[in-house]
Amino acid sequence: MKNRTGIPFLYSLAVAGMTFSLGTVNALAQHIGHASLTDPQPLLPNTSHFIWATCTDDDGGFVDPCNLQYSTDYNPDTGGHSHNTGRESSALNKASSNAAGGDNVQITTKAYAQEECFNACPAQGGTCGVADYLVGNGLPDISLFWNGEHASGPNAIWYLNGAPPTRSTTGHGDINVNRYMQSNPAIGLYNATLDYLEVHSGSCTFLGGSGHQCKICTNDQSLPWGGLFDYEQTWAPPHDGHRDGTSADISATINQCDPAHVVNMQEMEAACEANGADTGQTAPHPPGSPNHTHCEW
Ligand SMILES: [Zn+2]
Ligand SMILES: [Zn+2]
Repeated sequence: MKNRTGIPFLYSLAVAGMTFSLGTVNALAQHIGHASLTDPQPLLPNTSHFIWATCTDDDGGFVDPCNLQYSTDYNPDTGGHSHNTGRESSALNKASSNAAGGDNVQITTKAYAQEECFNACPAQGGTCGVADYLVGNGLPDISLFWNGEHASGPNAIWYLNGAPPTRSTTGHGDINVNRYMQSNPAIGLYNATLDYLEVHSGSCTFLGGSGHQCKICTNDQSLPWGGLFDYEQTWAPPHDGHRDGTSADISATINQCDPAHVVNMQEMEAACEANGADTGQTAPHPPGSPNHTHCEW
């Protein structure tokens, strides 16, 4: 191990017959922080991981002493959240350490699904080491919930609500951002929707029915990388059942949905359950929730 703290040299000044020592100056050593995270990504919310941190000089030799200061940060507007006030990033088990030869620093992710980075910065000045990582739930299977021609256009079977323009205060962008599911739940919702519309559809020739309903209103599912779904921009519940791309809300009252697309809640629950879902609506969707069906796969 090399030990490079620069070449100290003493400045002396003679002023009015007095000598002042101004101490040593690190003239040459450039401290460079390094950070390495090898765990598979995305890191799941509320889990702990180790990051290997070291401090070297320009030639790659370990610097001792080299006090590294640690921090984490989030990338604004990632994970489907376009609001950043009060946002947090992963916790650390230490704020600094002398990293000569290397140091394991533990990070613990929170419920936020987002892009983050870990920083190891030499307190003496120099270059920070940075490890970028992603925190997410349900990945890599989670994806935008579309089913070809039935997602939009004349043969659409869903009216997409739950975000602007029907709700302008979520801080989650447009109607696509709240619409991510894992593949099996997405297939379940697709089949439940067709089961429901087989009974209720009508003039929709593509469904072959004789009634009146062509679409149902799908509301919130999950954000792009899952995680905390705070539709009130509070970084807190409600909506805890929408963190991993396995659930969907279907509107049952006209204050959430065009009257032509409202479902009968009990019949929609039966359609979801017939396709593998649980509609028990655990908190924060208590049984008897008056305005929507919560289908959980
Ligand atoms: Zn949010
Ligand atoms: Zn729900």
